[in-house]
Amino acid sequence: MLFNDIKSLSHNELREFLSGNGHKPYRADQIRVWIFKQMMQSYEGLNVPAELCELLESKFRLKSLSEETKMESSDGTIKWLYKTSDGMPVETVMIPTETRASVCVSTQSGCAMGCAFCRTGRMGLNRSLEAGEILEQIINVHKYFLREAQDRTVTNVIFMGMGEPLANLDAVHRACVCLHDQKAFSMGKGRLTISTSGFAPKIAELLERSTPCQLAVSLVAADNETRESLMPINKTWNLSELLKAVDNYLELSGEWVTFEYILIKNKTCTPAAAKNLIRIVKPRRCKINAIVLNGNENSELEAPSEQEVDEFLRIVRAENVQINIRNPRGRDILAACGQLASTSSNKVAI
Ligand code: SF4
Repeated sequence: MLFNDIKSLSHNELREFLSGNGHKPYRADQIRVWIFKQMMQSYEGLNVPAELCELLESKFRLKSLSEETKMESSDGTIKWLYKTSDGMPVETVMIPTETRASVCVSTQSGCAMGCAFCRTGRMGLNRSLEAGEILEQIINVHKYFLREAQDRTVTNVIFMGMGEPLANLDAVHRACVCLHDQKAFSMGKGRLTISTSGFAPKIAELLERSTPCQLAVSLVAADNETRESLMPINKTWNLSELLKAVDNYLELSGEWVTFEYILIKNKTCTPAAAKNLIRIVKPRRCKINAIVLNGNENSELEAPSEQEVDEFLRIVRAENVQINIRNPRGRDILAACGQLASTSSNKVAI
């Protein structure tokens, strides 16, 4: 096993590691309670034989991320910037509502996908994260709520921070299994959402692995030419390949899929774009989450006017297509969709 962080190991792998090193496998339960229920971030005080504690300490980290900055938006959204033990930036965003606290986690440091509307895309990819580094982002939010005596808990996890989750599927799968595990985070599958930019061949793998999650697809645009200009991944897997993978997922899973759509002036927020979107979503079991573009300083893309958005929604809704407009959260701290780029500046980009 090549993991540096003990949280990356599955329950069975930890049992095998223990028995392979002459220790009782049942200790795995005790160690996992320490990590995932008590959320301890050091082995000190773990009630196991001293030589086992030393072995764990010598083989696996229990804490992989160190906090660099924490920024709070006027709407209550909080963004943390962490550094991994090898100095890679990772951002986590917590989005509170009255009844929920959703955590948007990063699955990679940076991203190789290069989407035109996204600050992370301009960073390039540093490296993929281990499952333990993904899980630690959620543990840190739990610990923040405890520390601040806030009567809250993490209700939803969205794999939509830095990185393309399906380009790091093994770690993302491990994280989902642990989040769903009753002996760890005990979160229902409906509370875990993996959002892909369109990594079509890996969508089927979610079903093959029985990854406990919901699927969201960043459609962003509904015709190949526009999508390709915004998302280079469309050159590798175009809309018809992506939709074939989505249809296969819908048929085999019996679930719904969420399409994320970004409203961009003169590109995706026009009457013609609305008709293209209707053609894609009407025959499918899906819902659309639309968001008005979060502008950033290096992009020429513009947000549409309110009238353009209203007209777009009118056309789509006239066809009885369900479309929700999500309010952007954390814009003032660059925590909204497409704005994560390891900045500690709170300069507003739009
Ligand atoms: S939108 Fe997602 S997939 Fe595209 S560059 Fe940004 S982080 Fe990567």
